[in-house]
Amino acid sequence: MYVNKESSRKYIFGPVPSRRLGLSLGIDIIPHKICTLDCLYCEVGRTNCLSVKKEHFYSVDSIIEEFEREYISLKDSLDVVTITGSGEPTLNEDLDEIATRVKKISEHPVAILTNSTKITDEKVAEALKKFDIVVPSIDAASQDVFKKINRPEESLDIEKINEALVKFSNDFDGKLLIELLLVKDINDSETELKKISDIVKRCRYESLQLNTVFRPPAYTGTRGLNESELIDVFLKMKSFGIKVERVSNFIKTFSHEAGDEKERVFELLTMRPCTVYEVASVFGISVEKSELIINDYLSKSQLSEEEHDSKKFYFSSLKK
Ligand code: SF4
Repeated sequence: MYVNKESSRKYIFGPVPSRRLGLSLGIDIIPHKICTLDCLYCEVGRTNCLSVKKEHFYSVDSIIEEFEREYISLKDSLDVVTITGSGEPTLNEDLDEIATRVKKISEHPVAILTNSTKITDEKVAEALKKFDIVVPSIDAASQDVFKKINRPEESLDIEKINEALVKFSNDFDGKLLIELLLVKDINDSETELKKISDIVKRCRYESLQLNTVFRPPAYTGTRGLNESELIDVFLKMKSFGIKVERVSNFIKTFSHEAGDEKERVFELLTMRPCTVYEVASVFGISVEKSELIINDYLSKSQLSEEEHDSKKFYFSSLKK
């Protein structure tokens, strides 16, 4: 997360809008930039202290004092309070106390964004259980992919981390919103996505959000997926039985903003051929509605159809 704090604030930032969480007041509890990972795509920059060691970074009293002051003046406009930062927040040894005290003050749900790597530590897992919402990342299921995309501290083992995430999710009573960030040609292969979905399926979670590289990454040359590729992954994860959220600029625009749904379906079919079921799935509409829209364009010869593998695909006639 990109953290831009006003000069009168040391720990608090925002409110910042988040599509998943709403308007969020952030609390940054890690000095820039201490992390267990050095992700290719990190928007905070390269990790200058790669560490798995928990520390007492700040006085808890000073974090809570600043939070209380800012929260009181901003609370009417908020949806959520989020602990995050310019590094991995679970490296803060005082996480449990911070969560407990923030929750005493906040009338809003309290969330935390974590890269999941410290979830193997029982004390961290216990502290995470204090939150109403936990947003853990899972970018890999194989150690080689983990090393490439997340550039971890050398002791970290992705299989142990993912197993601990599965266990945590089943012990946790709050909302678990998992994030998967996709980097082109690194973690987007069918094999890796299947392995990731096998882990996610064993979790008790609300949804998996797909994301990609939208902002300047820490390492140049790191590429995100384009809209069509994201839709492919979205549909693939759905076919694996994952409760996946529509995301990316494209899907977000198509799913959540006002406008003509018909036109948006047409735009999708200009970009890539889809079945009726895929259109319904991308837009979260019924198969019947998707059929009605497609049939209307077919009747005006603006869409064409073609059979492949016993499935009917529709696409814009303009493409031919
Ligand atoms: S987990 Fe990755 S993306 Fe998050 S702060 Fe650390 S290096 Fe950046």
